[in-house]
Amino acid sequence: MGCKCSTTKDILFFQGGFLVTHDVIIIGGGIAGMRSAIECAKAGLNTAIVSKVYPVRSHSVAAQGGINAALKSTDSWSAHMADTVKGSDFLADQDATEVLCKEAAFDITELEKMGAIWSRDENGNVAQRPFGGAGYPRTCYLADRTGHGIVHVLYEQIIKHGVFIYDEWHVVKLAVLDNAARGIIAVELKTGRLHRLRSKAIILATGGYGRVFKTTTNALTSTGDGMALALSAGANLMDMEFVQFHPTVLPRTGILITEGARGEGGYLLNSKGERFMEKYAPKAKELASRDVVSRAEQAEISEGRGVDGCVLLDVRHLGAEKINQRLSQIRELSINFAGIDPVEKPIPVRPGAHYSMGGVMAGIDGQTNITGLYAAGESACISVHGANRLGGNSLLEAVVFGRRAGQATEAFVKSTTLGDFPDGFLSEASFELAGILKREPSEPAYIIRNEMTVAMEEHAGLFRNKTGLEKGLEKIKELKERFKKAGLTDKADGFNSELLAFLELGNMLDVSETILLGALARNESRGAHSRTDFPQRDDVNWLRHTLIRNQSGELHLDYKNVVITKIKPAERKY
Ligand SMILES: Cc1cc2nc3c(=O)[nH]c(=O)nc-3n(C[C@H](O)[C@H](O)[C@H](O)COP(=O)(O)OP(=O)(O)OC[C@H]3O[C@@H](n4cnc5c(N)ncnc54)[C@H](O)[C@@H]3O)c2cc1C
Repeated sequence: MGCKCSTTKDILFFQGGFLVTHDVIIIGGGIAGMRSAIECAKAGLNTAIVSKVYPVRSHSVAAQGGINAALKSTDSWSAHMADTVKGSDFLADQDATEVLCKEAAFDITELEKMGAIWSRDENGNVAQRPFGGAGYPRTCYLADRTGHGIVHVLYEQIIKHGVFIYDEWHVVKLAVLDNAARGIIAVELKTGRLHRLRSKAIILATGGYGRVFKTTTNALTSTGDGMALALSAGANLMDMEFVQFHPTVLPRTGILITEGARGEGGYLLNSKGERFMEKYAPKAKELASRDVVSRAEQAEISEGRGVDGCVLLDVRHLGAEKINQRLSQIRELSINFAGIDPVEKPIPVRPGAHYSMGGVMAGIDGQTNITGLYAAGESACISVHGANRLGGNSLLEAVVFGRRAGQATEAFVKSTTLGDFPDGFLSEASFELAGILKREPSEPAYIIRNEMTVAMEEHAGLFRNKTGLEKGLEKIKELKERFKKAGLTDKADGFNSELLAFLELGNMLDVSETILLGALARNESRGAHSRTDFPQRDDVNWLRHTLIRNQSGELHLDYKNVVITKIKPAERKY
């Protein structure tokens, strides 16, 4: 039924939802969200997950290559930490990185106890493959479907522990009063109604924002909602300018070809058949860090040695048997989406937006600057990845810091009382939705969305400079103005996916602005942030984190020192 009623009735319609109370609400049913939910539920907390897709459909399920942990006696957590800090171009906080690497082995065993199946070596131990920027083969995997394996095991556990799931509920507001989290407001896809969920604590685990770029490996749902919601609720965002571009994505679709393909021995060729990485990273070659490989590819393409805007990833020498055993999914993806069977021909690949190093500023137990609001996984910035993340460290971050956020929440919930949840939050959210549904759109939102992704790719992509970033910022501001007048053609109450896409676009525009602001201010090149007008890393002025916060509708930049404990910054060479 269309919503062609008076303003008052529209608002009453939206306000007709439930008011429910839980101890803790976890926004996001990916690996970080489910891992934290297990800890909360095990501790006896009344725990709910709210997710805009069913948990097993979260982007985590698409992770391919693996998860890092120093398991062998010839490897060590300190070597893992040294690789991670170097990979981060020395921007990672070393206290947090130490926690990540020290606790990795424990969490791999925990996952195994829950039922995770890992690929095995000839002795029956967990197999580990080499990954980019790692000095040791320490990436545990399940063929090239690692995320799928972990997601389904965690899902079984949340069901076993009685976690309440509100699926296909889209969170539109974090209720924060006196700098303390009070709960959330979410729209239910099925009915279109707004519901209020009260809680003592919230864990934000909403994933990344890859969708603000045109070419991306990310699911349609990776729209940075959590970061935008947290920003408007008063949380600090950190290091938003650092966006990872993965070196091997399929042209047009942006579908990922795992780094595991290079880990297993695949290499990159230009149009002349040269293995060009020998020139850019003589030691590590294709297994240099992702920022280095992506820039090398782009240089080859820009200098005329590409093949239809791509370079070629060759795995033919591995043979059909190994490809089928270890890389069966990428074979299938290449056949279905590029028309190429990698057993017979090299795969055309190019760089694409993949991962957000930045996010909601959080400590090693997930605590943010808002009392009772925790963050974990890709939506958080605990700063273990700094300016560039190593492959295999993100699943690890989601598991380690998801668990830790759950544990910290338990202690917090048990020592706090439930705060009130004023009606104002609901009336504000219902006014907003009613307004969007009622207005006659000046243009469809998808046009704004397309222009945003193109502008971000052009101005905040692999290579950046002052003029481009200023143009990008101007464009996003223009799009934000147009967005205020845009609206919906579908006015239905229930299953209004156009409404949800509209809300996501609002979040993406906010997130884009923070990426551009951070990037424009940072007059240096570090990790994934490569400024052609400031090509050098500048530790004197820029060995610090960028913070962005919203003060009465204005975005303010601030900076914070990097925590350096064991490893002194040095030039990064691969
Ligand atoms: C193709 C691909 C392959 C990858 N491979 C690897 C790999 O091999 N190794 C590795 O370490 N990393 C890999 N990564 C990165 C890694 O998978 C992710 O960083 C990680 O899984 C993120 O987990 P998460 O739980 O933080 O978020 P996600 O899994 O993205 O989950 C986000 C959740 O938040 C929910 N949500 C978001 N917004 C809202 C809202 N407004 N209301 C309600 N719910 C909301 C979603 O429904 C979803 O449940 C890969 C990423 C991609 C895209």
